[in-house]
Amino acid sequence: MLSWPAPLLPTLPGAGPVLSVHDTSRGRVVPVRPEGTARMYVCGITPYDATHLGHAATYLAFDLVNRVWRDAGHAVRYVQNVTDIDDPLLERAESDGEDWIVLAMRETALFREDMTALRVLPPDDYVGAVEAIPRIVVKIEQLLADGDAYALDDGTGDVYHDVSRAPDFGSESRYDEATMLRFFAERGGDPDRPGKRNRLDPLLWRGQRPGEPSWPGPQGTTGRPGWHIECATIALDTIGMGFDVQGGGSDLIFPHHEFSAVHAEALTDTAPFARAYVHSAMIGLDGEKMSKSRGNLVFVSRLRGDGVDPMAIRLALLSGHYRTDRAWMPDLLRTAQERLASWRRAVALPAGAPAQPVLTAVRERLADDLDSPGAIAAVDAWAEATLAHRDGGPGVEDGAPALVRDLVDALLGVRLAD
Ligand code: ZN
Repeated sequence: MLSWPAPLLPTLPGAGPVLSVHDTSRGRVVPVRPEGTARMYVCGITPYDATHLGHAATYLAFDLVNRVWRDAGHAVRYVQNVTDIDDPLLERAESDGEDWIVLAMRETALFREDMTALRVLPPDDYVGAVEAIPRIVVKIEQLLADGDAYALDDGTGDVYHDVSRAPDFGSESRYDEATMLRFFAERGGDPDRPGKRNRLDPLLWRGQRPGEPSWPGPQGTTGRPGWHIECATIALDTIGMGFDVQGGGSDLIFPHHEFSAVHAEALTDTAPFARAYVHSAMIGLDGEKMSKSRGNLVFVSRLRGDGVDPMAIRLALLSGHYRTDRAWMPDLLRTAQERLASWRRAVALPAGAPAQPVLTAVRERLADDLDSPGAIAAVDAWAEATLAHRDGGPGVEDGAPALVRDLVDALLGVRLAD
C-alpha cells in the first residue's frame, strides 16, 4: 500500500545518545539498543473515520522514536498496518449506506494527508490487512496444524487461538485475569462465546456471515481474519521476531498487543515478539477520553481546514509527555501558536545564543523516554535569550539560529523555515 512522502531531514553535527523508553512488559524505562537496523512496528488506523488528535499524538510519539534513532546513527525500518477490514469499518459503512472499500480508501487517503501535514516520517512498509490476507491464512493454517488453534464445531468456520498453550500469555500487559476479562469484553473480545476452550481465547478467523465480504480462508473456509493475527503476520513478514519497539495507544496494551505477541511467539517458537512494548497515553476532551464511541473527537483535518498551522498542532501535542493522559484545550493550541511564532522570529536572526547546548539538551531530553516537554523548554530558553539579545551582546554566536532551526526540524519534526 502507498505510504506518504518523507520530509527532508536535516543532518546535525555529532550523534544523539541511546534512546530509553518505557516498556510495558517490564514496567519501567529501559534502554533500547538496536542491533544494526532499528525495527519498529506501530499499529495503524482502522480507516472508518478521520484522524483525531488522539491518533495524531500516538503517531507523533513514535515519530520521535524514529527521529531519535536516526539522529543516533541507526538505519530504521518502520512498519505500520492499515486495518482496512474490521467490524467497525463494516458497521460504519452499513450505517452510512456507503461501500466499505470506498470508505476505507477515503479515510486512508485523509490519514496520509494528515501525517504529511504533521511531518511524520512515513513507514517503510505500509501494509493493508486485505492485501495481507493470503499470508495471514498461511499463518492460521500453521497454528491449526501445530494444535495452537482450533475451529469451533458450530458450523461458523470461526477459528480461535488456545491461550492455554501460550506459556508467556500475560507477559506483555502483566494484567491479572479479571482485568484481562474486563478489557477483552470492552474491546471487541467475546469471553462468553459458547464452544471456546478458554474465555480469553482470541479470534483468528471469522467465518463468512451473510452480507459480509469474505476471502478464501483456512481449511477451505471463507471469511476474514481477526485483528491480532493481522499485525502478527505483517510484523513477522517484514521485520521478524525480536524487533525493537512495538508501539500503539495504551488501549492496545490488552488485548491487541498481548495476542499479537501470543500468535507470533506460537508461530516461531521463540520470544519475545518485541523487545519493548511502548504505549502512548490518551488525549481527552471535556474530561473524557477522545473516542469515536463518545463522539467527542477533534480531527486534524478539521483544524487544518480552519487554517491552523499543522506545526502548531504538532507542537501543542508534543507539549505534553506521551505517557501522560491529557486533555486537549484551546489554550494548548494558542500557546503552541505563540511558541511557534517566537521560535520562528529567533531562528530568522543571523546570530543568537549558543546552539550547541540546545542541541545537547534536546537530544538528552528526547532520549530520556521521549521527554518532549523538556526538549521544548530547552528551545524556549534559547529563543528567549536570543530574542532578548537580538542587537548582539556577549555570547551571541553567528549562525546559531540556523543550527537551532535544523535541530528543531530533525528532532522535534517542527519546520520553522518558511
Ligand atoms: Zn496492531
